[in-house]
Amino acid sequence: MQLDSLYQEIILDHYRTPHHAGLADPYDVEVHHVNPSCGDEVTLRVELDGDTVTGVTHQSVGCSISQAATSVMSDLVIGKPVAEGMATYEKFLELMQGRGNVEPDEEVLEDGVAFAGVAQFPARVKCALLGWSAWRDATAQALAKAETSAKKEGVSNV
Ligand code: ZN
Repeated sequence: MQLDSLYQEIILDHYRTPHHAGLADPYDVEVHHVNPSCGDEVTLRVELDGDTVTGVTHQSVGCSISQAATSVMSDLVIGKPVAEGMATYEKFLELMQGRGNVEPDEEVLEDGVAFAGVAQFPARVKCALLGWSAWRDATAQALAKAETSAKKEGVSNV
């Protein structure tokens, strides 16, 4: 079973043709995250509609793992409730911290299972998590912003 080469192919596909790449307007929050240990950088924009992730776009430079992981991440969270995206992140994090001993859940992680092998290389785990940390940061800021403007307008729980 050539699982490793299949996984490698999935990562390369996302690297060559990243999904949701290119920064889109309008957006709620933009963040810029870097992974100095590898030199990866990502600029990421998030748009929410209430508690639903309606848009994630990104512009990345760096290694194939960081760029492919950001592409896969955007596929996994767009159109989903924020809570579901965060739960998917927890699953991915568990896989990344499992040192190769965690069985990836394909139902939840979809193409994210391709990064299972990365867990054996602690130095590369940060690459795979860069896009996720940018998304979590931007989403938290977008939620806080929505709350503040709701208060300003005197609107409660619309
Ligand atoms: Zn990297």
